[in-house]
Amino acid sequence: MSGSALKGTSRIILLGPPGAGKGTQAEMLSRELGVPYVSSGNLMRKYQEEESPLGRKIKGYTDQGLLVPDDIAIEMMLKEVLPPRNLGGFILDGFPRNIHQAEALDESLSRQGTSIDRVVLIKIEDVEELVRRLGGRVVCRRCQTPHNLNGASPGTEGVCHRCGGELYTRQDDVPETTKVRIKVYEMQTQPLIEYYNRTAKLLEVQGTGSVDDVSRRLVESFSA
Ligand code: ADP
Ligand code: ZN
Repeated sequence: MSGSALKGTSRIILLGPPGAGKGTQAEMLSRELGVPYVSSGNLMRKYQEEESPLGRKIKGYTDQGLLVPDDIAIEMMLKEVLPPRNLGGFILDGFPRNIHQAEALDESLSRQGTSIDRVVLIKIEDVEELVRRLGGRVVCRRCQTPHNLNGASPGTEGVCHRCGGELYTRQDDVPETTKVRIKVYEMQTQPLIEYYNRTAKLLEVQGTGSVDDVSRRLVESFSA
């Protein structure tokens, strides 16, 4: 893909409902731009595995499809994006997830003399499509790469195509929890579209079709 079109854009937020393909596209962008991919969901799951009091607390929310309290999410994520970490930029997936988190991020970046360059909304309006995608999703235990059992991604029987790790179904990808997560997105995260639209940084890309289709649209939208 033409990396040149993307140069000079290094602080990016990916927005979109659960199942829109943010993680997959974030990895593509991360490779194209050479800036790290930071996923709040992956971080939450890493903390959960540690079986610490904090991990157990986080699990109490994620298992139900609810947002982890802002103080935890904000502290965890600002540590990743503020100096000394990731000075050259980042691609954020899953954070910010509500207005309060967005304001905290903006304020911290502005204290560093920087700001977000672009916000990309990956749009899928058909809720049934989201539920179907999430229902077919399995994730690598080792590197967290998402795979799809509905045939959208290269799948080798229960094994990650990237690292050979074991694929498993996330606790929160069961249908009842999936529906809660979509509702939480609509209520809390969707208002961010308007929030970022005001600063004219928002790009919109259709999330339907194949992974490559969406990647192509994404790169094109950056150069438009
Ligand atoms: P999705 O597949 O819905 O994009 P993620 O992997 O991004 O899910 O997040 C999984 C869960 O982790 C969320 O349902 C939520 O409980 C928690 N979480 C992730 N990011 C945040 C955040 N920024 N604020 C609060 N909770 C979060
Ligand atoms: Zn893997």
